[in-house]
Amino acid sequence: MKFTPDIEGETPDKIRQFQDFKVKEILTYVGNHSPYYQKMFSSLGIQIGDITELQNIRALPTTSKDDFHRHNWDFLCVPRSHIVEYTSTSGTTGYPVTIALTESDLQRLAYNECISFTCADGTSNDLFQLMLTLDRQFMAGMAYYEGIRKLGAGLIRVGPGLPAMQWEIIQRLKPTALVAVPSFILKLIDYAHLNNIDLNKSSVRKAICIGEGMRTQELTLNTLGRRISEAWNIQLYGTYASTEMQTAFTECGQSRGGHHHPELIYVEMLDDDGNEVPFGTPGEITVTTLGVEAMPLIRYRTGDIAIAYQDNCGCGRTTLRLGPVLGRKQQMIKLKGTTMYPPGIFDLLSQVDEVVDYVIEVYTGELGTDELRINVLRKGRDDQDVVRTLRDLFQAKLRVTPDILFVSQQQIEKLQLIGQSRKPFKFIDNRK
Ligand SMILES: [Zn+2]
Repeated sequence: MKFTPDIEGETPDKIRQFQDFKVKEILTYVGNHSPYYQKMFSSLGIQIGDITELQNIRALPTTSKDDFHRHNWDFLCVPRSHIVEYTSTSGTTGYPVTIALTESDLQRLAYNECISFTCADGTSNDLFQLMLTLDRQFMAGMAYYEGIRKLGAGLIRVGPGLPAMQWEIIQRLKPTALVAVPSFILKLIDYAHLNNIDLNKSSVRKAICIGEGMRTQELTLNTLGRRISEAWNIQLYGTYASTEMQTAFTECGQSRGGHHHPELIYVEMLDDDGNEVPFGTPGEITVTTLGVEAMPLIRYRTGDIAIAYQDNCGCGRTTLRLGPVLGRKQQMIKLKGTTMYPPGIFDLLSQVDEVVDYVIEVYTGELGTDELRINVLRKGRDDQDVVRTLRDLFQAKLRVTPDILFVSQQQIEKLQLIGQSRKPFKFIDNRK
């Protein structure tokens, strides 16, 4: 098997033609098998045969997370007896949704991850240490496992957490690559420093960073990414994926966004009104899954905002690339005309040493506009000094300055416990 498909080096025109064919194929399939889409098409009087060009897909309504949640089993295109795996979304933004997979879907998933790891310079000579769960209906864990097997590389299934055990295994089995959440890689670094382990003498050469962004909008490393690479000379590869789309966008060695795999998914980047935004402009990642048998999705709005790029990549691939997720669509903040998302603000705050902890609050001001208050627990220098540093940083990066309020440890803890979440809140949305 060739792990870099030919289509990834074709001209944009060829890729469009190819996707044209694949999209029509999946539309016909859901028209024949999906109760949800059959109902939708017939209520709108849509004949699938009329959709002769990829552009006409825009005549179809988008599918929201809420649609998928409320009509979960209407999306199933096969008899229940054909389902092999029941996976689930994490439910961080509401109730979990079940994603059922057939044997063919599992094979598609393995293929997806195999070409994704190839994109991240993975070869059969690599030994991957998996620092994530393979249970709890977690699709990605299974996908990485099967993808690496397909690649012919070696695997160590350690699971999440336990830095001491991870290091014991790194030193004993000498993996070349880690698959881990970037903030956990920081914990590995801390453990190494405390235990006199020389990071740069370890066998590890690279890490596939899952679940959290480690780049800025400009595709440079964010604070998290920088902290890792300053301590440890390893190549970092970002990846964006979700359970619903059953597909990953993984960076190559050029670190210029995650590559699109045209045989697996069709991507549109949409604005609030459902119009496509130009390349280089933030838009909502909207996907149509290709080749999915059990629960294919048509024009599924992920709620994730990112920037897509279409210029040729140094790795030779001509496919579209997705920059890091800038934030969730419903968390967008418009402060004095500037658009921002909580992760970008978190990144700025984590650049200031005196900031020990924080909670950002957005609310509706008297004029109906968004207002932003940043509650900071600080150490070290006095309030005025820290305020000046923060104001300068916000002004330089975002061109606006929010209200900054210093609070005590108790006040921060009280703010973080608002709501029912088990995770402490860093972002509170009190907008009307
Ligand atoms: Zn590339």
